[in-house]
Amino acid sequence: MATSSRRNFLQKITASAIALPIVSGAALESLALPTAIPYQGPVLRVAIMGLGSYGTRVADAMQSCTMAKLTGVISGTPSKVKEWQTKYNIPEKNCYNYENFDDIKNNPDIDAVYIITPNALHKPQTLRVAKAGKHVICEKPMAVNAADGQAMVDACKKANVKLFIGYRMHLEPKTLEIVRMRKDGEFGKALFFQGLCGFKIGDPNQWRLNQKLAGGGAMMDIGIYAVNGARYMIGEEPTWVTAQETKTDPVKFKEGVDETIQFQFGFPSGAVASCLSTYSMNNLDRFFLNGEKGYAEMQPSTGYGPIKAKTHAGELTHIHVTHQTVQMDEMAAMILQGKKPIIPVDGEEGVKDMKIIDAIFLAAKTGKKVALK
Ligand code: NAD
Repeated sequence: MATSSRRNFLQKITASAIALPIVSGAALESLALPTAIPYQGPVLRVAIMGLGSYGTRVADAMQSCTMAKLTGVISGTPSKVKEWQTKYNIPEKNCYNYENFDDIKNNPDIDAVYIITPNALHKPQTLRVAKAGKHVICEKPMAVNAADGQAMVDACKKANVKLFIGYRMHLEPKTLEIVRMRKDGEFGKALFFQGLCGFKIGDPNQWRLNQKLAGGGAMMDIGIYAVNGARYMIGEEPTWVTAQETKTDPVKFKEGVDETIQFQFGFPSGAVASCLSTYSMNNLDRFFLNGEKGYAEMQPSTGYGPIKAKTHAGELTHIHVTHQTVQMDEMAAMILQGKKPIIPVDGEEGVKDMKIIDAIFLAAKTGKKVALK
């Protein structure tokens, strides 16, 4: 066994030895968390497109994956490609740029492409990857509106490839435990969800503040966590949306780039949600679920972790495993073994969020309650 794989193996044994006594709940048994048994089955070979800050985080996390392996890169910056080739041992024949990446179609060493570029590029890039016959993992938000998201779902279906969205929280152990408790009735009837998501954004020249590349502002980037959090925590689809936008800095946050939006949902059961999405406040990373018999509280709730969570029954003590490592192993299992996640992470799930975000923007603009079908 090579030194690095031996180290990984030993780390996994240690992690599982620590994890076993304190990990509880059926939800967790479904996750491909580290085990002491070395994996010898097929591996999903992934090329990362967009070697920026999150792409680098995913690449690093993938070094500890069991079922997924980084085998290629797609980038417009030759110096970054060289750096990644050395760091991650990527052969020249698996390196592409934005002009020639359609050629991955002829590369048997790449099964899937993970798109980690600015939001507005996700749709055209997904369409090209699908046409090349490779599976797509696409970062959130999947697109800049629901129509584009649906076009991506349709294109992947037509090409007979899978489409997954980089929803790492949908596969996070404490999140899944709270969802299990809610499904098992441990909170009683779910009544209320609060999701507070935000941070103070820096550099005014970054793509996140460029409407054309980002498709919006804080809502697309961070508010989306409260949107899908509300759905999986309450366990229903909202039927109406109201929203209010405030802007304190119209120079930094231009037309179409939201700074702060408060939004509310109503659900068929009568449950309600109240959320905040912002690019101008720090320390906003909190979920709260209230039911007739109990509650759950997460803070931090969607950051890179460790996530902290407690319920009326006490603190959740599940071990922290790097989110992106779990995500990539889980997505590999979904693609290679047809594994079904507890909370869906597919393109259709992404479209549901995009439809709600479209409705939030409309409600904020018109000041009217928007009905969702
Ligand atoms: P980033 O700016 O650090 O990286 C973006 C990369 O895209 C860069 O390497 C850049 O060179 C490349 N790129 C290609 N074409 C470009 C163009 N026309 N303009 C600008 N850059 C271009 O951004 P990031 O933080 O890595 O975010 C990338 C995506 O990942 C976004 O969709 C974001 O929402 C998502 N993201 C997800 C998470 C998560 O936790 N799931 C966290 C961070 C970012």
